[in-house]
Amino acid sequence: MASAIARWEKFRFNPPPSRQQLEAVAKVVGVDANRLEQMLPPAGVGMNLEPIRLCAGCYVESPCHRIEWQFKVTQGCQHHHLSLLSECPNCGARFKVPALWVDGWCHRCFLPFGEMVQHQKKI
Ligand SMILES: [Zn+2]
Ligand SMILES: [Zn+2]
Repeated sequence: MASAIARWEKFRFNPPPSRQQLEAVAKVVGVDANRLEQMLPPAGVGMNLEPIRLCAGCYVESPCHRIEWQFKVTQGCQHHHLSLLSECPNCGARFKVPALWVDGWCHRCFLPFGEMVQHQKKI
């Protein structure tokens, strides 16, 4: 898994990803490859798959990862006007890949993602 993430870190959607790459990314973030294709950033916009980022405010409303949090151009959450978290504000653990977000809390200290919203800065 670590080597796959390292590859995705350098992953750029320019040229557009092959079907095989799309499916690999879709697996990590836990979305369908077809849906992912529709959510891709505009041509030339890069994407970081590490660190995995989170807006707890969004997570409370809909408990899933949003692909736009990984776009390089994304500075914060446009809906809540909050900075994104890239690690647990309580213990500093990096977030796991979204496909593994089954419990909705930090895998190390068990702080629920929803409670992390108070640690996001207003932007
Ligand atoms: Zn949000
Ligand atoms: Zn934690």
